[in-house]
Amino acid sequence: MQYQDFNFHTHTYRCGHAVKTEDDYIQSAIQSGFKVLGFSEHCGYEGFDSPRERIPFKEMDNYFSDIKNAEEKYKSDIKIYVGLEFEYFDDLNSYYTELKEKYDYLIIGQHLKDRKGYDYTYRCTDKDVRYMAYQVCMALENGFAKYVAHPDYFMLARDNYSKECEKAVREIVQCAKKNDAFVEINLKGMRYGIQQYDGYKSYKYPHNKTIEIYKEENAKVVIGYDAHNPQVLLQREYEDIARQMGEGLDFLQDYREILFDKK
Ligand SMILES: [Zn+2]
Ligand SMILES: [Zn+2]
Repeated sequence: MQYQDFNFHTHTYRCGHAVKTEDDYIQSAIQSGFKVLGFSEHCGYEGFDSPRERIPFKEMDNYFSDIKNAEEKYKSDIKIYVGLEFEYFDDLNSYYTELKEKYDYLIIGQHLKDRKGYDYTYRCTDKDVRYMAYQVCMALENGFAKYVAHPDYFMLARDNYSKECEKAVREIVQCAKKNDAFVEINLKGMRYGIQQYDGYKSYKYPHNKTIEIYKEENAKVVIGYDAHNPQVLLQREYEDIARQMGEGLDFLQDYREILFDKK
């Protein structure tokens, strides 16, 4: 099996729920045969710190320069990129514009409805699912990301994949295609295990029905390790499962397509 030699979905200790430093992730990536590693720490927001969810806002510049230093330090062994995984809130467009100018790439990974504590991880009604799709699509339409993390993340909070879930994922996939963006097959979701649904079994995410929609819509897809621990980069067997699930899909070949400057 030919494995992806790049991974753009990588965290560090800075977000408060991942462990280890960039050096540890880079060393695992090299050992595992990756040629390219992108860091996508959970983005910080002014006045909205949460020590177990995202990098503190005041640490954002340090994060950027630390990863830039790592890029230089490891340049003969692996190519390093610096990015962020961000939430879309529609009052922060000027902030996302600044981030886009500074970072190599951004990943839209929507976990939150607002900055008041409504978290889709724990609660996601049919109405919420559609709102989440709207948030993701706004990020794509504004050109803030070429990479959509786990479009079916809402399944963590749900026990059924309703028509509204299908509509939401289809909307995200169509929006991604229109904006030359890739939708992810997220390997972290598999670690929650296989669940029994009404008449079938599936991971919560990546959900079988999501993969079916990817196939129906001819989505462009990327595998994301979503590493919160360096060990994850050594566990290629999850990529085997993802490739089997996504057989026939249009997998990202030239990783530069997710960078803002294609450098
Ligand atoms: Zn995380
Ligand atoms: Zn992530």
